[in-house]
Amino acid sequence: MDHQRHLQCLAWPQVEQLAAQPGSTVVWPWGAVEQHGPHLPLCTDGLFAERVLDAALASLDPALPILRLPLQSIGCSPEHRGFPGTLSLSPALLIELTVAVGQQLAAAGFQRLVLFNAHGGQIALLQTAARQLGLLSPELAVFPCFLWNGPEGIAELIPEPERSEGLHAGLAETSLMLHLAPQLVGQERPCDGTGLTIPTGWSLEAGAPLAWFSHNLSSSGVIGDARGASAALGERLFDLLVAGWRQRLDALLNSAWPAPH
Ligand SMILES: [Zn+2]
Repeated sequence: MDHQRHLQCLAWPQVEQLAAQPGSTVVWPWGAVEQHGPHLPLCTDGLFAERVLDAALASLDPALPILRLPLQSIGCSPEHRGFPGTLSLSPALLIELTVAVGQQLAAAGFQRLVLFNAHGGQIALLQTAARQLGLLSPELAVFPCFLWNGPEGIAELIPEPERSEGLHAGLAETSLMLHLAPQLVGQERPCDGTGLTIPTGWSLEAGAPLAWFSHNLSSSGVIGDARGASAALGERLFDLLVAGWRQRLDALLNSAWPAPH
Protein backbone atom coordinates (compact mmCIF):
# COMPACT_ATOMS: atom_id res chain seq x y z
CA MET A 1 0.00 0.00 0.00
CA ASP A 2 1.30 3.40 -1.02
CA HIS A 3 0.65 5.18 2.27
CA GLN A 4 1.41 8.60 0.86
CA ARG A 5 -1.72 8.39 -1.31
CA HIS A 6 -4.06 7.23 1.47
CA LEU A 7 -5.70 10.16 3.25
CA GLN A 8 -6.26 8.09 6.39
CA CYS A 9 -2.55 7.21 6.64
CA LEU A 10 -1.47 10.86 6.88
CA ALA A 11 -1.45 13.20 9.85
CA TRP A 12 -3.71 16.23 9.75
CA PRO A 13 -1.01 18.84 9.01
CA GLN A 14 -0.05 16.82 5.91
CA VAL A 15 -3.68 16.73 4.79
CA GLU A 16 -4.06 20.45 5.45
CA GLN A 17 -0.99 21.23 3.37
CA LEU A 18 -2.04 18.94 0.52
CA ALA A 19 -5.65 20.17 0.41
CA ALA A 20 -4.39 23.77 0.09
CA GLN A 21 -2.56 23.04 -3.16
CA PRO A 22 -4.25 24.18 -6.40
CA GLY A 23 -6.44 21.43 -7.85
CA SER A 24 -6.26 19.19 -4.77
CA THR A 25 -8.21 16.02 -5.50
CA VAL A 26 -9.60 13.10 -3.51
CA VAL A 27 -10.60 9.79 -5.13
CA TRP A 28 -13.16 7.66 -3.31
CA PRO A 29 -13.34 4.07 -4.61
CA TRP A 30 -16.77 2.43 -4.52
CA GLY A 31 -17.55 -1.27 -4.72
CA ALA A 32 -20.40 -3.51 -3.69
CA VAL A 33 -20.88 -6.64 -1.61
CA GLU A 34 -23.03 -8.57 -4.03
CA GLN A 35 -23.30 -11.95 -5.68
CA HIS A 36 -21.10 -12.46 -8.73
CA GLY A 37 -22.27 -15.94 -9.68
CA PRO A 38 -21.07 -19.24 -8.19
CA HIS A 39 -17.43 -18.61 -9.13
CA LEU A 40 -16.53 -14.99 -8.20
CA PRO A 41 -16.34 -13.37 -4.75
CA LEU A 42 -18.87 -10.92 -3.39
CA CYS A 43 -16.14 -8.26 -3.23
CA THR A 44 -15.46 -8.36 -6.99
CA ASP A 45 -16.39 -4.75 -7.79
CA GLY A 46 -14.51 -3.25 -4.83
CA LEU A 47 -11.40 -5.29 -5.52
CA PHE A 48 -11.38 -4.07 -9.14
CA ALA A 49 -11.88 -0.43 -8.10
CA GLU A 50 -9.01 -0.51 -5.62
CA ARG A 51 -6.54 -2.42 -7.77
CA VAL A 52 -7.06 -0.23 -10.85
CA LEU A 53 -7.04 2.97 -8.82
CA ASP A 54 -3.89 2.08 -6.89
CA ALA A 55 -2.01 1.15 -10.06
CA ALA A 56 -3.11 4.38 -11.75
CA LEU A 57 -2.15 6.48 -8.71
CA ALA A 58 1.25 4.77 -8.45
CA SER A 59 2.07 5.84 -12.01
CA LEU A 60 1.26 9.53 -11.46
CA ASP A 61 3.84 12.19 -10.65
CA PRO A 62 4.27 11.89 -6.84
CA ALA A 63 4.12 15.68 -6.55
CA LEU A 64 0.50 15.85 -7.78
CA PRO A 65 -1.97 16.71 -4.97
CA ILE A 66 -4.16 13.61 -5.09
CA LEU A 67 -5.23 11.26 -2.28
CA ARG A 68 -7.60 8.33 -2.03
CA LEU A 69 -10.12 7.36 0.64
CA PRO A 70 -10.78 3.88 2.02
CA LEU A 71 -13.04 1.73 -0.16
CA GLN A 72 -16.80 2.18 0.25
CA SER A 73 -17.30 -1.55 0.22
CA ILE A 74 -21.08 -1.84 0.63
CA GLY A 75 -23.12 -0.13 -2.06
CA CYS A 76 -26.60 -0.28 -3.52
CA SER A 77 -27.33 -3.70 -5.04
CA PRO A 78 -31.09 -4.36 -4.84
CA GLU A 79 -30.98 -6.12 -8.21
CA HIS A 80 -29.01 -8.98 -6.59
CA ARG A 81 -31.34 -9.49 -3.63
CA GLY A 82 -32.04 -13.05 -2.61
CA PHE A 83 -28.52 -14.36 -3.23
CA PRO A 84 -26.87 -15.10 0.14
CA GLY A 85 -24.14 -12.62 1.02
CA THR A 86 -25.46 -9.72 -1.02
CA LEU A 87 -25.59 -6.65 1.22
CA SER A 88 -27.20 -3.42 0.08
CA LEU A 89 -27.81 0.00 1.54
CA SER A 90 -30.65 2.32 0.61
CA PRO A 91 -30.18 4.97 -2.10
CA ALA A 92 -31.16 7.68 0.39
CA LEU A 93 -28.50 6.55 2.89
CA LEU A 94 -25.77 6.41 0.24
CA ILE A 95 -26.65 9.87 -1.11
CA GLU A 96 -26.54 11.20 2.47
CA LEU A 97 -23.17 9.47 3.02
CA THR A 98 -21.71 10.91 -0.18
CA VAL A 99 -22.90 14.42 0.63
CA ALA A 100 -21.68 14.22 4.26
CA VAL A 101 -18.17 13.03 3.33
CA GLY A 102 -17.93 15.38 0.37
CA GLN A 103 -18.94 18.44 2.39
CA GLN A 104 -16.22 17.67 4.95
CA LEU A 105 -13.61 17.25 2.22
CA ALA A 106 -14.68 20.60 0.77
CA ALA A 107 -14.45 22.20 4.23
CA ALA A 108 -10.92 20.79 4.55
CA GLY A 109 -9.99 22.65 1.38
CA PHE A 110 -10.14 19.93 -1.28
CA GLN A 111 -11.33 21.16 -4.66
CA ARG A 112 -12.29 17.94 -6.43
CA LEU A 113 -13.82 14.59 -5.54
CA VAL A 114 -13.78 11.62 -7.91
CA LEU A 115 -16.31 8.87 -7.09
CA PHE A 116 -14.45 5.91 -8.59
CA ASN A 117 -17.21 3.35 -8.88
CA ALA A 118 -16.98 -0.22 -10.17
CA HIS A 119 -20.61 -1.34 -9.64
CA GLY A 120 -22.84 -0.78 -12.67
CA GLY A 121 -26.00 -0.80 -10.56
CA GLN A 122 -25.12 2.43 -8.77
CA ILE A 123 -24.00 4.64 -11.67
CA ALA A 124 -27.18 6.71 -11.70
CA LEU A 125 -27.28 6.87 -7.90
CA LEU A 126 -23.78 8.33 -7.66
CA GLN A 127 -24.53 10.81 -10.45
CA THR A 128 -27.50 11.99 -8.39
CA ALA A 129 -25.39 12.12 -5.21
CA ALA A 130 -22.68 14.08 -7.05
CA ARG A 131 -25.16 16.71 -8.23
CA GLN A 132 -26.65 17.02 -4.76
CA LEU A 133 -23.17 17.43 -3.26
CA GLY A 134 -22.27 20.02 -5.90
CA LEU A 135 -25.44 21.92 -5.07
CA LEU A 136 -24.56 22.10 -1.36
CA SER A 137 -20.77 22.54 -1.79
CA PRO A 138 -20.37 24.52 -5.03
CA GLU A 139 -16.65 24.94 -4.42
CA LEU A 140 -16.15 21.17 -4.84
CA ALA A 141 -16.11 19.68 -8.36
CA VAL A 142 -17.47 16.11 -8.30
CA PHE A 143 -16.81 13.36 -10.86
CA PRO A 144 -19.09 10.31 -10.59
CA CYS A 145 -17.30 7.89 -12.92
CA PHE A 146 -17.64 4.17 -13.67
CA LEU A 147 -14.59 1.90 -13.93
CA TRP A 148 -15.56 0.23 -17.21
CA ASN A 149 -16.71 3.41 -19.01
CA GLY A 150 -14.06 5.66 -20.45
CA PRO A 151 -10.83 3.73 -21.05
CA GLU A 152 -10.35 3.02 -24.75
CA GLY A 153 -9.98 -0.44 -26.27
CA ILE A 154 -12.03 -2.44 -23.73
CA ALA A 155 -14.94 -3.21 -26.07
CA GLU A 156 -12.58 -4.42 -28.79
CA LEU A 157 -11.30 -7.19 -26.48
CA ILE A 158 -14.80 -8.57 -25.80
CA PRO A 159 -16.45 -10.35 -28.77
CA GLU A 160 -20.17 -10.09 -29.49
CA PRO A 161 -22.65 -11.11 -28.17
CA GLU A 162 -20.78 -10.95 -24.85
CA ARG A 163 -19.86 -7.31 -25.46
CA SER A 164 -23.52 -6.29 -25.32
CA GLU A 165 -25.04 -9.13 -23.25
CA GLY A 166 -22.32 -9.87 -20.70
CA LEU A 167 -23.41 -7.60 -17.88
CA HIS A 168 -22.37 -9.44 -14.76
CA ALA A 169 -19.73 -12.01 -13.80
CA GLY A 170 -19.20 -12.96 -17.45
CA LEU A 171 -16.11 -12.94 -19.66
CA ALA A 172 -14.64 -9.58 -18.63
CA GLU A 173 -15.11 -9.79 -14.86
CA THR A 174 -14.07 -13.44 -14.65
CA SER A 175 -10.93 -12.78 -16.70
CA LEU A 176 -9.98 -9.70 -14.69
CA MET A 177 -10.37 -11.63 -11.43
CA LEU A 178 -8.31 -14.51 -12.82
CA HIS A 179 -5.53 -11.99 -13.40
CA LEU A 180 -5.82 -10.06 -10.12
CA ALA A 181 -6.83 -12.69 -7.54
CA PRO A 182 -7.02 -16.20 -9.04
CA GLN A 183 -7.20 -17.72 -5.57
CA LEU A 184 -10.68 -16.16 -5.20
CA VAL A 185 -12.07 -17.71 -8.42
CA GLY A 186 -14.01 -20.99 -8.30
CA GLN A 187 -13.95 -23.74 -10.91
CA GLU A 188 -17.27 -22.97 -12.64
CA ARG A 189 -17.36 -20.98 -15.89
CA PRO A 190 -21.08 -20.32 -16.24
CA CYS A 191 -23.03 -19.11 -19.25
CA ASP A 192 -26.40 -17.83 -18.07
CA GLY A 193 -28.94 -15.06 -18.54
CA THR A 194 -28.07 -14.48 -22.20
CA GLY A 195 -30.22 -14.69 -25.32
CA LEU A 196 -33.19 -13.40 -23.35
CA THR A 197 -36.56 -12.60 -24.77
CA ILE A 198 -37.18 -9.02 -23.77
CA PRO A 199 -39.79 -6.73 -25.34
CA THR A 200 -38.76 -5.41 -28.77
CA GLY A 201 -37.02 -2.06 -28.52
CA TRP A 202 -36.13 -2.46 -24.84
CA SER A 203 -32.72 -3.34 -23.42
CA LEU A 204 -31.05 -4.28 -20.16
CA GLU A 205 -28.77 -1.23 -19.88
CA ALA A 206 -28.25 1.16 -22.81
CA GLY A 207 -31.05 2.51 -25.01
CA ALA A 208 -34.46 2.07 -23.38
CA PRO A 209 -33.62 0.08 -20.26
CA LEU A 210 -35.53 -2.26 -18.00
CA ALA A 211 -34.97 -2.07 -14.23
CA TRP A 212 -34.00 -5.74 -14.10
CA PHE A 213 -33.39 -8.03 -11.15
CA SER A 214 -30.87 -10.80 -11.61
CA HIS A 215 -33.35 -13.48 -10.54
CA ASN A 216 -35.53 -12.49 -13.53
CA LEU A 217 -32.66 -13.29 -15.89
CA SER A 218 -30.50 -16.00 -14.38
CA SER A 219 -30.57 -18.77 -11.78
CA SER A 220 -26.80 -18.70 -11.19
CA GLY A 221 -26.61 -14.91 -10.83
CA VAL A 222 -24.37 -14.68 -13.89
CA ILE A 223 -25.55 -12.55 -16.82
CA GLY A 224 -23.04 -13.36 -19.50
CA ASP A 225 -20.71 -16.07 -20.72
CA ALA A 226 -17.63 -16.81 -18.63
CA ARG A 227 -16.61 -19.93 -20.58
CA GLY A 228 -13.75 -18.27 -22.46
CA ALA A 229 -12.34 -16.38 -19.47
CA SER A 230 -8.57 -16.30 -19.04
CA ALA A 231 -5.94 -14.55 -16.95
CA ALA A 232 -4.29 -13.40 -20.19
CA LEU A 233 -7.42 -11.51 -21.24
CA GLY A 234 -7.71 -10.19 -17.69
CA GLU A 235 -4.19 -8.79 -17.87
CA ARG A 236 -4.96 -6.95 -21.11
CA LEU A 237 -8.17 -5.54 -19.62
CA PHE A 238 -6.31 -4.46 -16.49
CA ASP A 239 -3.60 -2.70 -18.48
CA LEU A 240 -6.20 -0.80 -20.53
CA LEU A 241 -8.18 0.17 -17.44
CA VAL A 242 -5.08 1.42 -15.61
CA ALA A 243 -3.79 3.32 -18.65
CA GLY A 244 -7.18 4.89 -19.30
CA TRP A 245 -7.70 6.04 -15.72
CA ARG A 246 -4.09 7.13 -15.31
CA GLN A 247 -4.52 9.36 -18.38
CA ARG A 248 -7.82 10.78 -17.11
CA LEU A 249 -6.56 11.50 -13.58
CA ASP A 250 -3.39 13.06 -14.96
CA ALA A 251 -5.44 15.27 -17.32
CA LEU A 252 -7.71 16.29 -14.45
CA LEU A 253 -4.79 17.16 -12.16
CA ASN A 254 -3.17 19.21 -14.91
CA SER A 255 -6.36 21.07 -15.79
CA ALA A 256 -7.91 24.23 -14.37
CA TRP A 257 -11.33 22.56 -13.96
CA PRO A 258 -13.57 23.72 -12.41
CA ALA A 259 -13.25 26.89 -14.42
CA PRO A 260 -13.69 30.12 -12.45
CA HIS A 261 -17.27 31.38 -12.53
ZN1 LIG B 1 -19.50 -6.66 -10.85
